[in-house]
Amino acid sequence: MSDTYDCPSCDGPMRPARLSWVRACGCGVLRSTLDIAIPAKPRASAIDEQARVDGLASLRDRNNARLLDTIYGLTAGRRLLDVGCGPGFLLAQAGAFQAVGIEPDANVALAATTSAKVRHGYFPDALAPDERFDVIVFNDVLEHIPDMLQALAASHRHLSDDGVLVLNCPSRNGLFFRVASILERLGMRAAYERLWQVGLPSPHIWYMTPRDLTRAAEKANLAEVRQVRLDTTDTRGLWSRIRSVRDEGLLLSVAAYGFARIAHPFAKMLPSDAVAVFYRKQLAA
Ligand SMILES: [Zn+2]
Repeated sequence: MSDTYDCPSCDGPMRPARLSWVRACGCGVLRSTLDIAIPAKPRASAIDEQARVDGLASLRDRNNARLLDTIYGLTAGRRLLDVGCGPGFLLAQAGAFQAVGIEPDANVALAATTSAKVRHGYFPDALAPDERFDVIVFNDVLEHIPDMLQALAASHRHLSDDGVLVLNCPSRNGLFFRVASILERLGMRAAYERLWQVGLPSPHIWYMTPRDLTRAAEKANLAEVRQVRLDTTDTRGLWSRIRSVRDEGLLLSVAAYGFARIAHPFAKMLPSDAVAVFYRKQLAA
């Protein structure tokens, strides 16, 4: 990979930032140069899957229900593609759709609870060239994909006319990301590295706002139609979620838990760290 990038939102140059692995655009978009090492074949993972699954269950199910409710309101089409579907949680809740998922991690794809609907591979290579969907969902996935514009263009190609694209990405406007950024400037990098998922097999490549995303999506003829704020903190299951990264120090875990508990009541009043943006496919003029 080249060390210079253009911003997918404004086409500006992304320049080195204070941390060696961060590039920043003048418009505010952030990109990491972290290595991606998704297992192509099954092997032991750094994340304790069971702890992560248990810890996220109630928060995840509630946010997925919100995404699906919004989709019902935007289209009568029922063919849904979940890109980077993981173990198939959204698929399991999307019973009213003819849903399929794509998952690049071999461990996860093989273990998927909805394995009949899950293909092992990458988007869009795991699809036939002429496959079309009424809905394509990137649920905490687009921020992991280096060539974002290519993924958006492929989404446009694989959507039916009037199809709906759903992008749920972490926002750099969010409270947790802002606090972590301040702590990083003060020399405390752990929370910032945690949000970027440094050291995990598929770290974050992008940190953007919903507005940044929409500017990138418009280049692929995808027009924003809705934003839905999602929850990022839930006191239930928080501890097991924090502890699911096995190598993390106990002190950092305690600090993260304490901050999340204290911030929880305020977080609802401030910009969320997770906003889902819904787009409608526009046909080229
Ligand atoms: Zn930019």
